[in-house]
Amino acid sequence: TATRDLLLSRIRDVVDHPSPGIVFKDITPLLADPEAFTALTGTFAELCVRFGATKIVGLEARGFILAAPVAVSAGVGFIPVRKAGKLPGATLRQAYELEYGTAEIEVHAEDLAAGDRVLVIDDVLATGGTAEASLELVRRAGAEVVGVAVLMELGFLGGRARLESALKGAPLEAV
Ligand code: IMP
Repeated sequence: TATRDLLLSRIRDVVDHPSPGIVFKDITPLLADPEAFTALTGTFAELCVRFGATKIVGLEARGFILAAPVAVSAGVGFIPVRKAGKLPGATLRQAYELEYGTAEIEVHAEDLAAGDRVLVIDDVLATGGTAEASLELVRRAGAEVVGVAVLMELGFLGGRARLESALKGAPLEAV
C-alpha cells in the first residue's frame, strides 16, 4: 500500500552499525517526517482498536517513541518495559538469551493485572528475544497479550518463528 511504501522509504540502512557486518535499520528519518510518523501512529492505533487492547506496552528505547503516541491516540495506558535496573518501583524481571550472553528486562508489577488486554509495540523485530521476554512479563503480571506490532521485521533473523509459541495465537503485525 501507499502508506507502507511511505513508511518503509523513511527507514535508513546504516551499514556496519553498531559493529562491522550489521546493517542497522534507522527509524529517525521516519520520526522526523510528520506525515510518516502520523501514518505509523494511526496504523498502530487501528490495531489497538481492532484487537480490543486496553493497554500498550512499549519496549525500550525506540518502542517508547512509537508506543506513547499510539496510547494517547487510542485512549489507553502506556506501560514501559525497560532494561533491568531503570524502573524505580517493584518490578517483575525476565531474562532472555542474546547471541552472546543474556539480557534482562523489567516492568512495574502494578502496571499490569488480570483483565488487561495488551498490545506490545517495538520498532524492529530482529531475533525476537526481546519481544518473547516481554510477552512472558505481560503474562506473568496476569495480563493477556492481544498482539505484537512492529514497524519492521528482519525476516532473515527468524524472529517470527522464535515468537511463535510465546504468541499463543496472538497476531504479530509488521507494517
Ligand atoms: P531482538 O531481541 O533480537 O528481536 O532485537 C530487537 C531489539 O533490538 C528491539 O528493541 C530493537 O529496537 C533493537 N534492534 C535490533 N536490530 C535493530 C535495527 O536494525 N534497528 C533498530 N533497532 C534494532
